[in-house]
Amino acid sequence: MNSKIWLSSPHMSGHEIGFINEAFSTNWIAPLGPNVVGFEDDLKSYLNQNKEVAAVSAGTAALHLALILLKIGAGDEVICQSKTFSASANPIVYQGATPVFVDSERDTWNMCPILLETAIKDRMSKGKKPKAIIAVHLYGMPYKVAEIQAISKTYNIPIVEDSAESLGSTYNNQKCGTFGDYAILSFNGNKIITTSGGGALVCASKENRDKAVFLATQAKDNAVAYVHSQIGYNYRMSNIVAGIGRGQMMILEDHVQKRRANFQFYKDQLQHIDGIQFLEEPEGFYSNRWLTCMLLKDNTTQEGLRMHLEEDNIESRPLWKPMHQQPVFKDAPKYLNGVSDDLFDRGLCLPSGSNLTEEDLNRIVSLIINYFG
Ligand SMILES: *Cc1c(COP(=O)(O)O)cnc(C)c1O
Repeated sequence: MNSKIWLSSPHMSGHEIGFINEAFSTNWIAPLGPNVVGFEDDLKSYLNQNKEVAAVSAGTAALHLALILLKIGAGDEVICQSKTFSASANPIVYQGATPVFVDSERDTWNMCPILLETAIKDRMSKGKKPKAIIAVHLYGMPYKVAEIQAISKTYNIPIVEDSAESLGSTYNNQKCGTFGDYAILSFNGNKIITTSGGGALVCASKENRDKAVFLATQAKDNAVAYVHSQIGYNYRMSNIVAGIGRGQMMILEDHVQKRRANFQFYKDQLQHIDGIQFLEEPEGFYSNRWLTCMLLKDNTTQEGLRMHLEEDNIESRPLWKPMHQQPVFKDAPKYLNGVSDDLFDRGLCLPSGSNLTEEDLNRIVSLIINYFG
């Protein structure tokens, strides 16, 4: 059997272990400490927009905190991009609110601004003004930031920017993770940098960031005896995990370049094949190419090619199954145009890790060419 090639696997730099050793030697084995502060500072200076950052246990936890800070509660509605990973939508339900799913456009595969406005108007006509918009930069490609922001402004609905897959991407030279009223990052094992598991909430003010940290550390009021006037969560990042993050920040830019080079390689080698299409960057859009995705002719080709790669121990995956197709969200309101269904039917994510070797890439591409040959 040939060696396994994963879709996206962790890629350590070697710098991580030094930060972890330091945590051990100073006995900072806790859900706070110098690595947490250091990692937050690293993220803050990387994002470079005067944002405030709270490091937490997962991207999902960061999203949940954003919704709590936006006072989303029972009976509220929150708009969410349908084409995404389930973690974008689940925290809406944690708050007892209802997700309203909006389909994608073709240029970026992200939330369609036209449909977003249709959805807002329709919900308002039913007496239900949405309380927030969760927009996602899927696979690293920025969503149409200007258009979505304009709608957010017109209707005065805040944006939660799901930047879990897009650390290192930019829109008009500004980093993804700095556009929403809140933004979230993820450092799960498969993301462009990883802390094994972890996330961050990016806030516009120190006040909001401090509120998030308060909620993430059990909402203990400022008193010697524990006094609680709010429900708290145990969502803070551990000092060990943050040490991995500090080491990973040192090679984030390398990872972006490597993933972009993977995309370019696949495109150069495969675009001549009839029926294969890649997603191009519109003017001003810069993707970290977290995953290289391609569109095929039809669902039969997608499944056939996926099986062909799997037989050689290579992992590939259909694009995310849209949330409006998920059994758990079957009753949620939805505004559709067929785009995300089509992408799900025909799209395939290829192995995209920053640790793929030239040999790995050649092996994958030869198999694909052989499948079509
Ligand atoms: C990974 C991911 C998340 C969740 O992040 P975790 O750190 O795994 O909780 C949220 N949204 C999207 C789009 C993701 O890909």
